[in-house]
Amino acid sequence: MYGRYGADQLYIALAVIFIILQLFQLFAQNPLINIASLALIVWMFYRVFSKNITARQAENQRYLRLSKKVKTKTHLWFRKVKEIRTHRYRQCPECHTTLRLPRKRGSHTVRCPQCEHAFEVKITL
Ligand SMILES: [Zn+2]
Repeated sequence: MYGRYGADQLYIALAVIFIILQLFQLFAQNPLINIASLALIVWMFYRVFSKNITARQAENQRYLRLSKKVKTKTHLWFRKVKEIRTHRYRQCPECHTTLRLPRKRGSHTVRCPQCEHAFEVKITL
């Protein structure tokens, strides 16, 4: 394995996708899933045994950036659901920061703590 790239976070994610596809294949028996699984395995082995380490690291960094975005959005969505009785979330029109506001019905003027922009917010429910 000397000089080869090896396993990383993208490799683990691909392995998890492969396992999920194989579990799904137990019930579906679809030849397209077999082809997709085979392509995943080939890609995983290509990445592990690749000597172009900088290209593989760049792929992994892109994967990490994308997964961080997905995790952040998912976390925010769960938080919105959890706090639906007490808070509302609104985005600042200037800097697009998400603001957590107390649930007070009516129209309010809100000042963004990031950019100091004041804007009108309506909370109906
Ligand atoms: Zn702002």
